[in-house]
Amino acid sequence: MKLLDLVGGTPLVTLRSGVHAKLEYLNPGGSVKDRAALSMVLAAEESGALRPGGTIVEGTSGNTGLGLAQVAAARGYRMVCVLPDKTAVEKLDALRAYGAEVVLTPSALPKEHPNQVVAYAARIARETPGGWWADQYGNPANPAVHLRTTGPEIWEATEGRVTHFVATIGTGGTISGTGRFLKEASDGRVQVIGADPVTSSYNGGDGSPFAIEAAGHYVHPQTVNDPWPDSYHRDVVDRVVAVPDRASIVACRTLARTEGLLVGGSSGTAYAVASSVTGDCVVVLLPDSGRAYLSKYHSDTWCRRQGFLDGELSAFVSPVVS
Ligand code: PMP
Repeated sequence: MKLLDLVGGTPLVTLRSGVHAKLEYLNPGGSVKDRAALSMVLAAEESGALRPGGTIVEGTSGNTGLGLAQVAAARGYRMVCVLPDKTAVEKLDALRAYGAEVVLTPSALPKEHPNQVVAYAARIARETPGGWWADQYGNPANPAVHLRTTGPEIWEATEGRVTHFVATIGTGGTISGTGRFLKEASDGRVQVIGADPVTSSYNGGDGSPFAIEAAGHYVHPQTVNDPWPDSYHRDVVDRVVAVPDRASIVACRTLARTEGLLVGGSSGTAYAVASSVTGDCVVVLLPDSGRAYLSKYHSDTWCRRQGFLDGELSAFVSPVVS
């Protein structure tokens, strides 16, 4: 077996709450984005857009970069990753450990700015001989891999009993591909529900910044009518539920302490919605591990500084000894 054969095929576990959770952190690169990364590289090799010894370039909040860096190392490509400067330091170090080159750019630049993450990555790819821009927001291989793998895996694991599918929306690849498969397989019976940081524009928010990394759609205030990415297929999604940052963080910490699942903030966003859905067979996709966020959502100090540490959260906090 080769390393990249381990991408996908993640388990669906039943939580104490009755919700079924798809554990995407068990992919070899540690997140759901292993699937899109491998799928995009294979499609680019096939089309000739990426040639032996070439350079993979991507602008990413982290996990797609890790997935691509893993594939680059395993298949002999150079990798350049452009990231917003709010990205957790553990993710940057992990990219560098895979041998990827990391370029940081300010988090809140408008789309038109030449140094905005996506524009910057596209430019580096253009200006690098043998460069190929993965373009996860516009690349059809991203949603397609979920139609081909994630959806069928959930259908099989539930023996076709799934009634609700809940996921966050970053590029939209996960919810669009998985949701489309489940809708088609069930003749439209499966409800597909997006879980979205409260100010994200996917749920009609104003696009102002939010605390949860890698999920939601951030719109710079100066960018009017910012279009949603091609990788997000709105027609597949029945409703999008707004989740306040605090609720995401409480749910994320609750998963660790009551279910034994150390997951990231966007898993908290998804679980906050899934745990409130009434249905016979609710499936939630948990995108990545909490290891990358020990200094953020799982840190009492960070939560206290952000004003998230009171009310429900205090039930989980050890008393401060002074
Ligand atoms: N959560 C995390 C931690 C992610 O890295 C991503 C991918 N950016 C998502 C959620 C959203 O997944 P998708 O891009 O497939 O919508």
